[in-house]
Amino acid sequence: MNITDESIPVGWNFDNSYSRLPEKLFSHIEPKMVRSPRLVALNASLAVKLGLAKEGLQSAGGIATLGGNEIPNKTKPIAQAYAGHQFGYFTMLGDGRAALLGEHITPSGERLDIQLKGSGKTPYSRGGDGRATLGPMLREYIISEAMHGLGIPTTRSLAVVTTGEIVNREKPLPGAILTRVATSHIRVGTFQYAAKWGKLEELRILADYTIKRHFPEIEGTEQPYLSMLQEVVERQANLIAKWQLVGFIHGVMNTDNMTISGETIDYGPCAFMDNYDPATVFSSIDREGRYAYENQPRIGVWNLVAFGEALLPLIHENENQAIELVQQTLSRFSEVFQETWMNGMRAKLGIINKEDDDESLIGDLLNIMESYQADYTNTFRALTTNGIANTGLADKKEFTLWYQQWKERLSRQDLSEQEIKVVMRKSNPAIIPRNHRVEEALEAAVEKNDYSVMDSLLQALSKPYAYNQIRKSTLNHQSHPIVSIELFVVLDRIDLC
Ligand code: AMP
Ligand code: MG
Repeated sequence: MNITDESIPVGWNFDNSYSRLPEKLFSHIEPKMVRSPRLVALNASLAVKLGLAKEGLQSAGGIATLGGNEIPNKTKPIAQAYAGHQFGYFTMLGDGRAALLGEHITPSGERLDIQLKGSGKTPYSRGGDGRATLGPMLREYIISEAMHGLGIPTTRSLAVVTTGEIVNREKPLPGAILTRVATSHIRVGTFQYAAKWGKLEELRILADYTIKRHFPEIEGTEQPYLSMLQEVVERQANLIAKWQLVGFIHGVMNTDNMTISGETIDYGPCAFMDNYDPATVFSSIDREGRYAYENQPRIGVWNLVAFGEALLPLIHENENQAIELVQQTLSRFSEVFQETWMNGMRAKLGIINKEDDDESLIGDLLNIMESYQADYTNTFRALTTNGIANTGLADKKEFTLWYQQWKERLSRQDLSEQEIKVVMRKSNPAIIPRNHRVEEALEAAVEKNDYSVMDSLLQALSKPYAYNQIRKSTLNHQSHPIVSIELFVVLDRIDLC
């Protein structure tokens, strides 16, 4: 990375609309100085989208901002207050290790939160040190960018700087700060906080602000708060259906980690499922499997119930009537989820019309995959590339039968084989961020200061559906080749991506 000593303008264009809300909702803070910020990851294409100069971000002044050492003119950082149900238990939280630098207004007029994660203690730090370590910040960078590549709504990652300081965890680790970009950081937990500890008027102001920022089309309508709930229900149902379709497991679906915008947020112990097993859990602290793959839609509803509960006093002065309205609205979740998931699954199988038996066709395949511990991504990818002969399913009787039914089903729509392939390629990623690939990239970066593995991985993950381009973009890294889809057809049994 070309780093310059002089300061070059970055192009920040900050506003602080959240700071104009009642003070109960945030605290003014100064990010704590760090010893020697060093830029280790910069998302150049995102910088362009934000109207920021890459050279500016790479310059001494740009890096000082990304490290929290220099606050650009015209912005006043804050830490946001929020609460949340963590593994079912309600508690006060807030940005304990993050500073919201402000809202950057892009040249196209988009308002985006710029948050430094790992920037030091705040009034909400409780016992914590306010810091983050390099591995998890790079992990969030990689997975959030992979999600973006997959077309799944998510917060983005602009940069990671190391701080030059050691952070003590189970062992001493290098400190780092991630610059996170989000359409906002307003969470279900933000509303829970306002409902529990704020005045009704403060809750209303937060809701009005959120509507203006995320759902301007419902401003001034008859039941704006109920409409907001419905919008969030629909966005979350769509989001979680998309997670399920790519086998993504968030890992910590606490209410403070669920956005109102419908973006995926807070990549902790998340991962993509390898073998299809609905009970898969990645988080070691999730001993009861609360946030297992198969539970994600149900937990989505659980969290939205908490959101609805927080909104009750705004929805109707009569609590019973408010509850009834909220319940009716929450029932939209399963309709939207089912619709998005079914259509997504149909597309994964190259189906574009609807038949009553589609659900059982899909269910049968998933059951077979579960029985034979077939890899989720690779099975759909093999169906897409006619590569099933090289998978463990090829010689299984149930699968052969299913395959025939599938082919018959495909013939009952007006699509050529070529067109079916196009639909499938758009719906079945050829590349996902496999845990061992992510770990490899992190180890090289953290242990050896070698970011080339991560760069190759990010490059591959930016075009997960580009079956034909995979070889060109990824085979240039000698020690960590991500094998091409063409080779994959031959080497199908090996876990390649
Ligand atoms: P997370 O697990 O990142 O969703 O964080 C849950 C809560 O713990 C949030 O309120 C964080 O701000 C807080 N938190 C996590 N790590 C730290 C830390 N090192 N210092 C202070 N607060 C933290
Ligand atoms: Mg969180």
